[in-house]
Amino acid sequence: MNKGTTKEATTNEATIKDAIVNDGIMNDDDINNPAVKHIVIVGGGSAGWLVAGTIAAEHGNGDEGVQITLIESPDIKLVGVGEGTWPTMRATLKKMGISETEFVRECDVAFKQASKFCKWTTGEEGDEYYHPFTLPVGYRELNLAEYWKAYSNEISFSDAVCVQSQVCANHMGPKLITTPEFSGITNYAYHLDAAKFAVYLRKHCIEKLGVKHITDNVIGINSAANGDIRSLATQHSGELRGDLFVDCTGLTSLLLGKHYQVPLISKKEFLFNDAALAAQVPYLDPECPISSNTISTAQSAGWVWDIGLQTRRGVGYVYSRTHISDEDADKEFRAYLTLTIGKEKAEATEFQKIKFTPGHREVFWKNNCVAVGLAAGFIEPLEASAIILIELSAKMISEQLPADRNAMTIVAKRFNDVFTYRWNHIINFLKLHYVLSKRSGSQYWIDHRNPDSIPQSLQELQALWKYQIPWFYDEVHMEELFPLASFQYILYGMGYETAQRSTIKKPNPAALERAAELLRDNIRKTNEVMKALPTHREIVNKIKHYGLQKI
Ligand SMILES: Cc1cc2nc3c(=O)[nH]c(=O)nc-3n(C[C@H](O)[C@H](O)[C@H](O)COP(=O)(O)OP(=O)(O)OC[C@H]3O[C@@H](n4cnc5c(N)ncnc54)[C@H](O)[C@@H]3O)c2cc1C
Repeated sequence: MNKGTTKEATTNEATIKDAIVNDGIMNDDDINNPAVKHIVIVGGGSAGWLVAGTIAAEHGNGDEGVQITLIESPDIKLVGVGEGTWPTMRATLKKMGISETEFVRECDVAFKQASKFCKWTTGEEGDEYYHPFTLPVGYRELNLAEYWKAYSNEISFSDAVCVQSQVCANHMGPKLITTPEFSGITNYAYHLDAAKFAVYLRKHCIEKLGVKHITDNVIGINSAANGDIRSLATQHSGELRGDLFVDCTGLTSLLLGKHYQVPLISKKEFLFNDAALAAQVPYLDPECPISSNTISTAQSAGWVWDIGLQTRRGVGYVYSRTHISDEDADKEFRAYLTLTIGKEKAEATEFQKIKFTPGHREVFWKNNCVAVGLAAGFIEPLEASAIILIELSAKMISEQLPADRNAMTIVAKRFNDVFTYRWNHIINFLKLHYVLSKRSGSQYWIDHRNPDSIPQSLQELQALWKYQIPWFYDEVHMEELFPLASFQYILYGMGYETAQRSTIKKPNPAALERAAELLRDNIRKTNEVMKALPTHREIVNKIKHYGLQKI
């Protein structure tokens, strides 16, 4: 062990003194006192810092609360491509005590209000629909999908039931400069620069929440007799002991995958994408409109994400190597970029190449180690489901933080049950986008509709939804990642047909009248909101200049 050799590692105050046990030997006090007092997080990407900030905000840090130490490698880069989030991020940041104004200024943030899907249904020009973040009007009162059907030739489902697809189509922001931090006129999340986000969270966690930070490589893992991780061996900083270890080491999955050998369960049989090309693309005009939604455009063997930040776009092609070669994917992606930045710039753009096995670990929490982020698994970026899983994992670890080692086994089992359900829920929701497609120009899309590639649980839902429009009965868990409204936006955005059961009596006149009123109301509200909201670029510029009102 590198006893006391700390000079090559960069640390904040007191880090090494407090966190490192130089002799590496557990003393009797530790064995008799199984209290969970010191949490060690390995990895300083979005996962590591979101976990650190969430736990530190709830449990304090230092003498009164738990001690949190985050160690990250100076040599291993972040994946750096997770730039689309869910509206949950507002509550996550607020709870950590972050200022929304500062966050917008520091992380090149823009607002995300929806995903727009282009060419997913037929592949024809004009084939597009929105999945907005705002719930359909009267969602808890009436299932408006039932009543919208009569007008489906005149107005899209999302336009009929919520204001947000029009807000997005016109590049509007979700709030006014007078709207307080983290509140919106419409529901919103963020598009952000992933690298800047990690730096910003790091600074906040260290300076405001007292998280201890070590920059060093973890090079070994020391086990206790019961199989727990007793400590981590580091390259320059000695031995780092802890009671709970959070593996946020990205696709390496150093603790859960490599040390505990928890297998990655591949889901490629359902969701084929296993590679991505990612690029940062400049705006030709720095004052051009900023897109209010992620644009997802179907390609021959995958799809392209296109995310607008304040100063640039983050664009990437995620594809299946079974269905297209890397060279052809490169060509197809450059052709997409050519449409907006021209051939010369598209040819000169450098791509980050990422390969992954779509899937998740068999369990996420083993002994005293829990994996979060890419270390726990990754399926694909569709609908930005990865960072929201990080937030939910951080929240559950924090809210259920076991007081001592004895309770940890029970919490671990519950965590594994909840997150196994969530991964399956994500797989069903993502796969739905593919099975509803009618595209036939390439084998990729045809293979996606092969029943062997559709999870049994999704096949059952499809069979059910032929005769009943999804609603609350299909939401079986608290804090569903994707509410049933999201399924409705995809189903009816892609022209899914639900035939009403013949046994249902005609809706009563009062319900019909109420539905008509809600639909009319939505049109009126859309017009009002369109007049009131600033453009997306305008609100971002104003926030940078004046700042938002504190809550
Ligand atoms: C192509 C692609 C597109 C994506 N798009 C989205 C999206 O739009 N929305 C979304 O929600 N998610 C998206 N994701 C997922 C998202 O990028 C990740 O969930 C997020 O960035 C979290 O990454 P991480 O922190 O788990 O890992 P990383 O960012 O890879 O961080 C790993 C950390 O571990 C450290 N580390 C590794 N080994 C060691 C060691 N031995 N010692 C010390 N430290 C070590 C590294 O230094 C680093 O700090 C995307 C992913 C991919 C691949």
